[in-house]
Amino acid sequence: MYWNREIETLTTNNLKGLQLERLRRTVARAGQSQFYGQRLQQAGIVPDDLGSLEDIRKLPFTTKDDLRTSSLQMLTTPLKEIIRLHASSGTTGQATVIYYTRTDIELWADLVARSLYMTGMRQEDVFQNMMGYGLFTGGLGFHYGAERLGALTIPAGAGNSKRQVQLMRQFNVTAIHIIPSYALFLLQTFEELGVDPRDLPLRLAYIGAEPYSDATRRRIEAAYGVKAYNCYGLSELNGPGVAFECPEQNGSHVWEDSYLIEVLDPSTLDPVPPGTVGELVFTNLTRQGMPLLRYRSRDLASYDDRPCPCGRSSRRISRIQGRTDDMIILKGVNIFPIQIDRVLMRLPEVASNYLIEMQQIKGNDQMVIKVEVKQEYFSEDLAYLKGLQKRITEALKSELLVTPRVDLVEHNSLPRTEGKAVRVVDSRPKA
Ligand code: ADP
Ligand code: ZN
Repeated sequence: MYWNREIETLTTNNLKGLQLERLRRTVARAGQSQFYGQRLQQAGIVPDDLGSLEDIRKLPFTTKDDLRTSSLQMLTTPLKEIIRLHASSGTTGQATVIYYTRTDIELWADLVARSLYMTGMRQEDVFQNMMGYGLFTGGLGFHYGAERLGALTIPAGAGNSKRQVQLMRQFNVTAIHIIPSYALFLLQTFEELGVDPRDLPLRLAYIGAEPYSDATRRRIEAAYGVKAYNCYGLSELNGPGVAFECPEQNGSHVWEDSYLIEVLDPSTLDPVPPGTVGELVFTNLTRQGMPLLRYRSRDLASYDDRPCPCGRSSRRISRIQGRTDDMIILKGVNIFPIQIDRVLMRLPEVASNYLIEMQQIKGNDQMVIKVEVKQEYFSEDLAYLKGLQKRITEALKSELLVTPRVDLVEHNSLPRTEGKAVRVVDSRPKA
């Protein structure tokens, strides 16, 4: 059940030893780039200053802005050694570019293969990759990983829903990689085609790339008749396969032999204890072409360092609560969209889509949540709908501690994307 037993089950001490050795090597390597050469010199740090993993705090951070302005200056090799580039999807601004050497591509594929193997994918599986191919890392990253494992890999790409269903049927697909909001949307196409996904040989789904609640995962598992595993990654750190759920489904193991993780309080930048949500900060430990030191991901999660029954020693992170920039402040209360996802996806009357609108009405901020209701519940009976609206509002209020306005809308009336869902629209005047 292990892809790489030795690495996956290292004792904590041996893992730390390996990390320290790799950290020193990475710092030395990064120092050869123009960008880190200068940064490290300014900070007066040489690899030998790192006597323990805690000394990582002596190193400067790297931010998304650094990547936007200086990614070419972060290369540690001549450009001719680079064989591929990817760019982040640009969800929060201008895209950032990442460069890979041949070794980087191979190491990354191996981590994805390790992740897939952990969840039970084997050579006999038929894997349909429904992520966007191209600059986005979700497509090619998984593709190379699944091929490395030896599964029959179908590069379906994103969108084209009818074709997706046809491919699954035609090739007896057993495993899919899909954005969670799209997985719920695709159910509609199954219905139109009169196909029940539970009748297909599907058994595994890999879902990630956007924040979603466990309630959404359970919906996907029930509707498709699969076990759905959370996969987390970001292009800045290669792409998918930074952290991945094991069959215990109790958090995602970070592949700590390749990524050194810190969980820091985003305002003080001090480490937080296990179980407390903080910003995930990553350092590459094996990347050759463009190793990043202390990259501030802006993703928020907590970590758990208790042993996992699966026997892997790497620490686990919780579900991503959101990005620091996704946080909505309403009447002094901090809210993340995933909290709304958690409440709505538990309610059987709610269909798969919703939209959070931040408005300003007479100088007051208001949160309006548009909620799609399943066809069979969207009746003409106004009293029923009013009652439903009230129940949804109450459920949201007890989670959020403030009262949003809830508007019930018809199924499929809210905008959709084939990529990451856009959950929040802010129409308030900029401060
Ligand atoms: P962008 O930052 O432009 O969206 P990426 O395509 O690199 O670019 O996406 C990485 C980001 O996607 C992560 O930083 C995180 O915010 C989000 N993400 C990826 N996987 C997950 C996941 N399993 N759960 C929640 N969020 C995720
Ligand atoms: Zn585990």
